[in-house]
Amino acid sequence: MGEVLLECRHLKKYFDVPNGVLHAVDDISFSLEKGKTLGVVGESGCGKSTLGRTILRLLPHTSGEVIFEGKDILQYSRGEMKELRKKMQIIFQDPFSSLNPRYTVFETIREPLKIHKMFKTQEETNRRVRELMEVVGLASRYENTYPHELDGGRRQRIGIARALALTPQFIVCDEPVSALDVSIQAQVLNLMMDLKDSMGLTYMFITHDLSVVKHISDEIIVMYLGQIVEKARGDDIFAHPMHPYTKALLSAIPIPDIRYKGKEAETIKGELSSPINPKPGCRFAPRCPRATEKCRMENPELKDMGDNHLVACHLY
Ligand code: SF4
Repeated sequence: MGEVLLECRHLKKYFDVPNGVLHAVDDISFSLEKGKTLGVVGESGCGKSTLGRTILRLLPHTSGEVIFEGKDILQYSRGEMKELRKKMQIIFQDPFSSLNPRYTVFETIREPLKIHKMFKTQEETNRRVRELMEVVGLASRYENTYPHELDGGRRQRIGIARALALTPQFIVCDEPVSALDVSIQAQVLNLMMDLKDSMGLTYMFITHDLSVVKHISDEIIVMYLGQIVEKARGDDIFAHPMHPYTKALLSAIPIPDIRYKGKEAETIKGELSSPINPKPGCRFAPRCPRATEKCRMENPELKDMGDNHLVACHLY
C-alpha cells in the first residue's frame, strides 16, 4: 500500500430541516493514497457532493475526522485553513456560476494567485497565469475574453486552471464533465488525467455516472442515502459488482459492457427515498428487488469480501 494522503473516519454531516434531521453524510470512512483517483458514485441526493464539501471544510461537519497529511484538518484554525486551501482544491460542475462575469479569463485565473499572495511581483504572477493557460490548453488569444463568450469545455479549463493555480495536492472534482457534450467530456477528462500524472495530483472524482469514472478510478465508492454500500478497485466494481444498487447503476450504463453482459441484471424502481430521519434497516430496501424481512429491520454493515472489496448487504 502506498502513502495515504487523506483519510475520513466516521465522517457525518447532518442538516436540521423543518421535519427532522437530514443524514446527508452518515458515518463515512475511507482512505485515499497519494497519486490515486477515488471515484464517488451515486444518484443526485445520495450525499456525494456534501461529502466532498465537508472534507474540504466548505461545510461544517457534524462529527468524525478528516486526516490530511497525518493531521485532523477539521480541528484547524482559520489561519491553518488558509494555508491548507492551497493544498486542497475543488473543480465544480459549472465553473461559470462561481466566476466573476466582469473578469476576463486572465483576471479570473490570476485572482487566487493574488488572494494568496503567491508571488512578489506582478510580472511573476502574470507569467504564472500564462503558464497555467498553456497547461490547461487555453490559447493565449483568450486572455482578454470573458467566460460567457466561451463554450462549456473552455470554461471548465478556466475552472481547472484556477484549481491548479496554488499547486494543490488534492482536488475534489465535483461532476466536472457532467454539463459538457460527450465529445468535450473526453477531452476534459483526458486533460485532467494528464495533469494528475504530470503533477502527482490526488483526485476525489464525484459523479452520478459510473461510465465517467470507469477508466480513471483506482478505487470506487458507491454511495446510497449518505452511506457507502460498496467499495472496491475500479476494475473490480465493473467486473464483479455485488450490491444490488451497484448492479442497477451498471445496467443503466447505455454502452454495453462486455464483461458485465449476461450477468444477472438488477433493476430498481422508484425514487431515492428521503434521507430525513432514516428508518432502521437497509436504506435501499424500499427499492431493492432482493429485499427480505431482515433487510427492513437491520442496516447491513460494510463487510470485506476479500481483496479489499467491501459491500453492505445481507445477501453476503
Ligand atoms: Fe437489498 Fe437487503 Fe441487500 Fe439491502 S440488504 S441491498 S435490501 S438485499
